[in-house]
Amino acid sequence: MSQKQQPVINDLFIGGEWRAGSSGERFPVVDPADGSIITQFAVATERDCLDAVAAAEEAAPAWAATAPRARAEMLRGAFEILTRERDQLAEIMVRENGKAWGDALAEAGYATEFFRWFAEEAVRVPGEYRLSPGGDKHIIVTRQPIGVSLLITPWNFPAAMAARKLAPALAAGCTTVLKPASETPLTAAYVVDVLRRAGVPAGVVNLVTPVPTGPAVTAMLEHGAIRKLSFTGSTEVGRVLLTQAAGPIINTSMELGGNAPLIVLAGADLKVAVEGAMAAKMRNGGSACTSANRLYVHRSLHDAFVDGLRARLSAMVTGPGLDHASDLGALVSQKERDKVAALVETAVAEGAQIELGGQKPDGTGAFYPPTLLTNVEHGSTITRTEIFGPVATVIAFDDVDDAVRMANDTEYGLIAYVFGEEGDAMRVAARIDAGMVGVNRGVISDPAAPFGGVKQSGLGREGGTDGILEYL
Ligand code: NAP
Repeated sequence: MSQKQQPVINDLFIGGEWRAGSSGERFPVVDPADGSIITQFAVATERDCLDAVAAAEEAAPAWAATAPRARAEMLRGAFEILTRERDQLAEIMVRENGKAWGDALAEAGYATEFFRWFAEEAVRVPGEYRLSPGGDKHIIVTRQPIGVSLLITPWNFPAAMAARKLAPALAAGCTTVLKPASETPLTAAYVVDVLRRAGVPAGVVNLVTPVPTGPAVTAMLEHGAIRKLSFTGSTEVGRVLLTQAAGPIINTSMELGGNAPLIVLAGADLKVAVEGAMAAKMRNGGSACTSANRLYVHRSLHDAFVDGLRARLSAMVTGPGLDHASDLGALVSQKERDKVAALVETAVAEGAQIELGGQKPDGTGAFYPPTLLTNVEHGSTITRTEIFGPVATVIAFDDVDDAVRMANDTEYGLIAYVFGEEGDAMRVAARIDAGMVGVNRGVISDPAAPFGGVKQSGLGREGGTDGILEYL
């Protein structure tokens, strides 16, 4: 393919202009499929980051006063551009993130839908008018844009996580500073430029890529203008940011880590369960906060389920995402790949049995094969750690109460999956401590549905009707 020729944007976007950082320094963006450098991206200094906050602050009153319909039309414009340019967006994600082409196309479509959904929500912000209980006054409740919003996103869904924050923030009338992960700034720059092309005014969306990240983010939070921090990433960094937001009392939304259980009940349709497990585990190569980390399978189905999953996993083609035949791409970096490999080694040392894969391949690409582990003990290291790679771990259970206990035995609570006869599955789903439960399906994300966790998986909801309220 000649797709490597597509030009990329590698600068900061501040006050409506693409520009290099004030230090003139740059950092490499690497293609994890072969280790090559795609481009050198501008480093944002603390000064640049504060300029971005100031630009967002200056643009805030006019944007808040822009008619909801006008804001909606711009978001709709972004939806239309991205619909036309789905392949280009997918290509950039493949190059800097390593994901398979099918995963990139799916993410591009998912990201695009957030602009359509929030274009529709922009004109439907609810208010209230009611009589006080004493009947002596009328209460009027209106919702206002919360103000300048700092949006921090991870590398695993570089387009969707940016869109899931930018679209509701802009719909609500907030101006923004986007800080993408340092591994994947090119996708963020592409999305930001789409918004520019859709007519979003100067200063409303800004993009910064500080190196190092921590001190610059702290400086932005202490600037005084930021009223909202929306973060998607690890629980560890989320905890640090919550502490920092406490000083200036900044409103926060936190989409953090997960450790999703997937339960296959005795009455489950085996084919549906295997296909659901494939989707829940292997979507995005397993690099998803929603990825099924622990597969609890009723003993009566265990062996057949393992056979079915092994057959599906071994049919996967691992290779560079720009080769459209690959359905499992590279991990985002050698470091991430090595973390997954080490986790598998630990699991084996703790008694797990490798049914498939488990060998780190040679070569420069950050690839790891589809891997299936059985005889995994609940409570072992791999069941307590977010794997973030193409490794499925299967644990047999006899008693449904035991399965529910093990599923809930985690500090996380983002998502869970239950497969079984509909009534049984719904009853078990209601007993799981998670923000979301998929019943007889392996993918549940939808821009129209609220997305978010409980326990240490986060605070707040993105998408759905709740998504815009986070910015009001
Ligand atoms: P991460 O290390 O927490 O990084 C996420 C973002 O935070 C990046 O932009 C990163 O910037 C930034 N960051 C790192 N240290 C920071 C600091 N001290 N102050 C301010 N910002 C800082 O997470 P990741 O490895 O990119 O992503 C994987 C994690 O995200 C997983 O735990 C996954 O479960 C979670 N996730 C959750 C959801 C959800 O919706 N719940 C969705 C997707 C992913 P740099 O890249 O510059 O370090």
